[in-house]
Amino acid sequence: MVGIRELFEDQASPAGRIVRAIAAIGSATATQLVKSTGLARSTVSTLLTELKDGGIVLDMDTKSNGFGRPSQLLSLNPAAGRCAGVLLGLGEIRIAICDLAHTVLSDIWFAMDKDYTPQDAARCVRSSLEEQCALLGVDMSELLGVGLAISAPVSYDGEILNGSILPTWCGTNIAAVFSEQLGCPIHVENESHCGALAEMTWGAAVGEPNFVLFKFDLGIGGAIVIDGTVQRGAHGYAAEFGHMSLDPRGPPCRCGNRGCLETFAGGFQLLRYAEQSFGETISIEQFVERARNGEAAYARLVDDAAEMAGWGMGIAFTILNPPLFIIAGKLAEVGESFINGLERSFARHSVAPPAHSPEKRKPRFVVGTFRGNDDTVMGAVALVLRQHGRITSEVSPAS
Ligand SMILES: [Zn+2]
Repeated sequence: MVGIRELFEDQASPAGRIVRAIAAIGSATATQLVKSTGLARSTVSTLLTELKDGGIVLDMDTKSNGFGRPSQLLSLNPAAGRCAGVLLGLGEIRIAICDLAHTVLSDIWFAMDKDYTPQDAARCVRSSLEEQCALLGVDMSELLGVGLAISAPVSYDGEILNGSILPTWCGTNIAAVFSEQLGCPIHVENESHCGALAEMTWGAAVGEPNFVLFKFDLGIGGAIVIDGTVQRGAHGYAAEFGHMSLDPRGPPCRCGNRGCLETFAGGFQLLRYAEQSFGETISIEQFVERARNGEAAYARLVDDAAEMAGWGMGIAFTILNPPLFIIAGKLAEVGESFINGLERSFARHSVAPPAHSPEKRKPRFVVGTFRGNDDTVMGAVALVLRQHGRITSEVSPAS
């Protein structure tokens, strides 16, 4: 039996497919594995026996579906390897370490200078990982991979593309910088794609193979998930919903265009409006709290943002027709006033469902499960668990 690292990275072998299918959902029955891998039941059964003998798969508690014999739940052996997820944020870094049974072993946060460089980040992440691994009694070499989440579109080979909240990082190959320091497989994705992976693995999108996520935070991002895969597009720009241009004569955007959705409904912009209008510099958390409390001036800014956000979601619906929208990010924490406004605007800006079956053909709107930046750091862990966004020497849009 080959080792866990080879099984994780082997996209083609039946045993690798079983291991990755269990890693993606944490625990599974043999029937679920037959369904998710497409392998014959007898093949799954034989390979599970081998994987158990090799100490890679463990029997867990049984799962009853209410009738017949309860099904045996299986998980990966937590001691077989660990994964780390790293959030590279504006002036902060957060690192989580998980085992293969999805238990969070360590979750730490530290501040960085506002203008920290990718090299500073890689050095700090390395020393922090060394420290955390030592506390856990784990050797760094046991890390099956490190996932990096960054607020920018990222190319398949790990280059940060235009649109980053860390503008000086544009053009840097972040995967190469981290690979040099960490010496283990590196996975990189933008934070909204990581958010979608977190929702698929632990949150509002468990068991949902098709959905579109909109993340309304300081910036606006998103993810398109089709058949259980987060779509990246030809170059990594897929679902950059914040940069849909809604008004060619609108305000200039950080991407270089004008009138992008982000210039109307992005948190940075809302804070700027609040500062210009009310002369107060506040944080996004304070903004959300004031809007939640119904302070009229802030509630109005949220209404206006919801109007534009619903318009943007209407466009996404016209193009993709998803059955489910997940609404994530700090603005979602404003609650009903934002979500209801957004749904009203969405109805005005998308194809109306037929009168005889309106409910059947409407998408569902669900607020994401995670709060703060938990979705981003856990999504970075899920990059490794789901082998998404891994940088390989042979880069192709299909990887
Ligand atoms: Zn833009």
